[in-house]
Amino acid sequence: MRFVILGGGPAGTQAATDAARMGVEVTLVERDVVGGAADLWDCIPSKAMIATGGALSFLSRTGGMGLAEVDPVLDLERLRQRVESITTRLRESAEAILTSQNVEIVRGTGRLADAHTVVARTADGERTFEADAVLLSTGSRPRIPQWAPVDGIRVLATRDAYPPKELPEHLVVIGSGVTGVEFVHMFRSLGSDVTLIVSRQQVLPRKDPEVAAVLEDDFLRRGVRLLKGARAIAVDAGVPGGPGLAVRCDDGRVAAGSHALLAIGSIPNSEGLGLEEAGVAVDDAGYVPIDRHCQTNVPHIYAAGDLSGKLPLSSVATMQGRKVAEHIAIGHTVSHRHLNYDKAPSAIFTEPEIADVGLAEADAFAEGRKVRVTKVPFASTAKALINDDPRGFVKIVSDPATGVVLGGSIVGQHAAELISMVALAVTAGLRVQDIVESMLVHPTLSEALAEAAD
Ligand SMILES: Cc1cc2nc3c(=O)[nH]c(=O)nc-3n(C[C@H](O)[C@H](O)[C@H](O)COP(=O)(O)OP(=O)(O)OC[C@H]3O[C@@H](n4cnc5c(N)ncnc54)[C@H](O)[C@@H]3O)c2cc1C
Repeated sequence: MRFVILGGGPAGTQAATDAARMGVEVTLVERDVVGGAADLWDCIPSKAMIATGGALSFLSRTGGMGLAEVDPVLDLERLRQRVESITTRLRESAEAILTSQNVEIVRGTGRLADAHTVVARTADGERTFEADAVLLSTGSRPRIPQWAPVDGIRVLATRDAYPPKELPEHLVVIGSGVTGVEFVHMFRSLGSDVTLIVSRQQVLPRKDPEVAAVLEDDFLRRGVRLLKGARAIAVDAGVPGGPGLAVRCDDGRVAAGSHALLAIGSIPNSEGLGLEEAGVAVDDAGYVPIDRHCQTNVPHIYAAGDLSGKLPLSSVATMQGRKVAEHIAIGHTVSHRHLNYDKAPSAIFTEPEIADVGLAEADAFAEGRKVRVTKVPFASTAKALINDDPRGFVKIVSDPATGVVLGGSIVGQHAAELISMVALAVTAGLRVQDIVESMLVHPTLSEALAEAAD
């Protein structure tokens, strides 16, 4: 069995490693770096910079910890080196794992010549591989509209920001979804003034309004300007007498700043993949539709990760890669569990952090579904007081008849870590009582989960 993978992000590397472990002969074609956009441009550098911003913000609050005030200074060059060293280590470790499993890594751009043939354009010319199974995991890239003159210096796409050559004096962030708010938080913590253009009336339009409100309050408290109900339509550089740049909105309002950053979604990397030649269907937006096994309409050709148009999360891509490898190596067995995308946890690395999983209170309400919602503020836990950060809350949504945990939201310190317990409960069908009766370490923030479940 020869398995050829196009794209070595989380989906591709996980599928390659798992399939190779199960005895499949695997070739991975990657045009850039193993680890994918996730490691190089998206998840990792953004979180590394957010962690530095978090350190700065913590140091600015040392008074609350009983320490003398300090005045830390940001060093952009050191920050650049830090981001680079983290991404390099992750890339090297991903490559080492693949190599140890005898995965053949081909540096080049791959495409399907037909349903069973992959051609890779490499520095040494073209190589052709016959494949029994193929995985398309070529990911996505930031959406850059025509009206945005991205130059990587003053008008930035997300990939220009790790870190930018200079710290923006005043950054205008366009887009208030997960990526947009993370960049607002990141640059505000690093010391930039920030204006956020919010196309609706709420940041994070798809999130629980109560959760979004906490973040909006935090942004306003930290001096972030919110321009709500406005859609950016143009970026004019070189504003006379102004700080340098103006983002014009559809309602006539203008946000002035020194730099602008676009965070308005992504588009799939599906062009030039030879989908037509192989007979693989693609939807109008360029995503490759898949079934519950991640199979495309051509059964031995799979798609996973952002290209598949499911949840654009590295964690989901990884899990899809795992399932593809299982399906290819051992087929559909009784123990093969399908992915349930509704049960995927997600997090937003702002301050406070926001994380959720499963059914949201607002969605249950909209569906007219009867649920039990319990909420506990972190301020009631000892650990939050010890940490000098009592912001936020834990909310658990459960079935009132059975007690089964259906979902949860956490806003506060370490929410992205804490949501794992609720995610496990949702995935395993545990009841609130199971959480209540877990003997948790004291004092910890997790105690708020047990209290909320009670
Ligand atoms: C700013 C930002 C922050 C994010 N933070 C998080 C986060 O904290 N947590 C999280 O879970 N998700 C996060 N995401 C989403 C996450 O990055 C993606 O969901 C994830 O990268 C998707 O993985 P993938 O395997 O589909 O492909 P990618 O990571 O996009 O990798 C695809 C790979 O395919 C290669 N490729 C493309 N075309 C070809 C070709 N023709 N031949 C060979 N190789 C090719 C590319 O070079 C790339 O290496 C973030 C996204 C953004 C934009």
